[in-house]
Amino acid sequence: MKTAKVSFEDSIAEAVVKTGKCVGCGTCVLTCPFNCLEYIEEKPSIVKECKVCGICAQVCPQYDFPLSKIESFVFGRERKSDEAFGIYRRLALARATDKQILQKCQDGGAVTALLLFAFENGITDGAIVAKSELEKPFYPQPTLATTANDILQSAGTKYFYSPNILTIAKALERRLMKLAFVGTPCQIRAVRKMQFAGLKKYTAPIRHLIGLACSECFIYDGLMKEHVAGKLGVNPKRVRKVNIKGKMLLTVDSETVAIPLTEAKQYARKSCHFCEDFSSELADISVGGLGLEGWTFVIIRTQQGEELFSNAEEAGTITTKEASTETNALNLLIKLSVKKRTVAKELAK
Ligand SMILES: Cc1cc2nc3c(=O)[nH]c(=O)nc-3n(C[C@H](O)[C@H](O)[C@H](O)COP(=O)(O)OP(=O)(O)OC[C@H]3O[C@@H](n4cnc5c(N)ncnc54)[C@H](O)[C@@H]3O)c2cc1C
Repeated sequence: MKTAKVSFEDSIAEAVVKTGKCVGCGTCVLTCPFNCLEYIEEKPSIVKECKVCGICAQVCPQYDFPLSKIESFVFGRERKSDEAFGIYRRLALARATDKQILQKCQDGGAVTALLLFAFENGITDGAIVAKSELEKPFYPQPTLATTANDILQSAGTKYFYSPNILTIAKALERRLMKLAFVGTPCQIRAVRKMQFAGLKKYTAPIRHLIGLACSECFIYDGLMKEHVAGKLGVNPKRVRKVNIKGKMLLTVDSETVAIPLTEAKQYARKSCHFCEDFSSELADISVGGLGLEGWTFVIIRTQQGEELFSNAEEAGTITTKEASTETNALNLLIKLSVKKRTVAKELAK
């Protein structure tokens, strides 16, 4: 992609950070060739004089994102007007067959099952995922998983921002060449923008992009400290699972505590609402819970995604059902995709 070279201050700082649109993915920090940027409090901060190479502007998912061109680059065509949640080849519901995965995962464990299948069959040599911090339950720690146990231990959703992109640097240091990357829609867009810009140094090892559906991330101190510990009097260490199914549902020991979404949303990160992508529309495979119990809704978008999914299906690592059996989930996917895009466009005006 040829763009005029522009400084960090004149591009990202002015149009993204200052306006509140920065999602904190860290792609500019990862790719700055002169190490002028540091990742501080979920944002890029300039720590050295910018050399005006323009790379940060070329990779930022929130700055001048050429969606149609990137769709053509990834899928060979742009979406049609009725493709509300992006281009895809197949929709399915999937569930892991391994009991250990089912005990740790968020929905049907499809993500963890696919990651393990790829790793154990030599398709990948590592996965970039998000583990929960031991002392701060559900606080995500971007992690380079290089063992099956690492992959298993990282299962489950942490509804807080995990800058998984920054972990690409660790994979490069370790010279891993066949990575799976799990990320939120903004991170999948960032990886695609890096690929489109030809930054092979960072993207060549990434073989599979597994994109999570995401309406927004929450602020940890607000939700877990102020609300869960403060208002509800629940020690976050007693929370075994957080899920959203119409309400935010906390499994506390063996009981379920519900937080109405209107209350939970006061702790949503404002920057997430500038993101127009609900279902990781540029991923190889996108996944979401979409109100389902014990199943992952899977959108298979690319040939790489289809091969991985079909091979795992044939090997019995996942069991699948037709997505058409769950019209509510499909309708919710369309509704949330349209809503996120509309809100982002309104805010951008
Ligand atoms: C912040 C966030 C918001 C979401 N919002 C929605 C929503 O509104 N609607 C919906 O249908 N689905 C949403 N999801 C997706 C959903 O929660 C499940 O991740 C998805 O259904 C896959 O389930 P699974 O059982 O197959 O995943 P699992 O097998 O449990 O694997 C989940 C994978 O995601 C990784 N992961 C966990 N947290 C993060 C994170 N914060 N950042 C990056 N990677 C992470 C884990 O390390 C693991 O590899 C959201 C996910 C996240 C992280």
